[in-house]
Amino acid sequence: MDIGFIGLGKMGFPMARRLIEAGHRLVVHDQRKEAIDKLVALGAVAASSPKDVADRAETVLASLPSLQASLEVATGADGVIEGARVKRFVDLSTVGSQMAVRIHGLLAKRNIVQLDSPVSGGVGGAEKGTLAVMVSGPRADFEAIKPVLAVIGKLFFIGEKPGSGQTMKLANNFLSATAMVATSEAIVMGVKAGLDPAVMIEVINAGSGMNTASRDKFPRSVLPRSFDFGFATGLMVKDVRLCLDEMKSLGLSMEVAEAVGRLWETVIRDMGAESDFTSAIKPIEQAAGVVVGGTTARAAE
Ligand code: NAD
Repeated sequence: MDIGFIGLGKMGFPMARRLIEAGHRLVVHDQRKEAIDKLVALGAVAASSPKDVADRAETVLASLPSLQASLEVATGADGVIEGARVKRFVDLSTVGSQMAVRIHGLLAKRNIVQLDSPVSGGVGGAEKGTLAVMVSGPRADFEAIKPVLAVIGKLFFIGEKPGSGQTMKLANNFLSATAMVATSEAIVMGVKAGLDPAVMIEVINAGSGMNTASRDKFPRSVLPRSFDFGFATGLMVKDVRLCLDEMKSLGLSMEVAEAVGRLWETVIRDMGAESDFTSAIKPIEQAAGVVVGGTTARAAE
């Protein structure tokens, strides 16, 4: 199947590469020429704009970093909406349900189906094809592109209502954001009291405190202080803000989410949007006057 792919960044590039390896013909576009060149070297065809992609493929996938980028790529001048061949736009980005519904409405006027398809599982999951893929939109279109999406991960059909895949993704990322800062506070508390953080992480991962931050992020990127997990603080804060907006639009006031939101606003202010989101521990360390990690100490066998 000819597939269009727009947005070849940390997530988009490995997803697009897997689709080529699975035998699909890919038409690709990104603002960055070097990202396009890397995929052309693997067998993809370059396109000069989102419209150009949508002139050549019935199904166009996108993995973009902001709500504005998804809106522009899908519905702006030279956007997917102007393409001659496109039938469906599959947004793998996290944009929140309100933006997904807005894009859905604009594309529907041109008989283009929009499918929400946000993903979870990070760059590692994108490389291995093990992402959780949360799809909402018309069931028939979901069925039509199942073989394509199955290349990038495990598929979950959330419902036909536009935006519901996004709501699912925000619930997931709220928990991921919470795990990162809550684990940082727990480990900083222990280090302040003189505990070894490497031992703490081993104990937590053998106990009931285990979570995605203690299991994946601390061993890979926090304890070695490499802060290179592959998800930008700006993207995490985007998702936390979207989740708080979603809760408000449903008339909900959620106490944990608001505290988590305040913490992440501190992280983006102190560390910057481009920092890796595992840097969230640094303002917490600074406030406590300790540094976590850099130790090779292990638990007693
Ligand atoms: P990224 O910034 O690495 O990649 C985005 C790509 O889009 C870049 O290559 C950029 O050049 C391109 N781009 C931006 N605006 C464009 C435009 N108008 N036209 C064409 N190309 C454009 O971001 P990422 O980490 O790959 O994340 C992409 C999406 O996936 C985001 O919505 C993010 O929230 C979500 N996500 C990321 C992760 C992760 O671990 N990085 C995990 C799950 C979901």
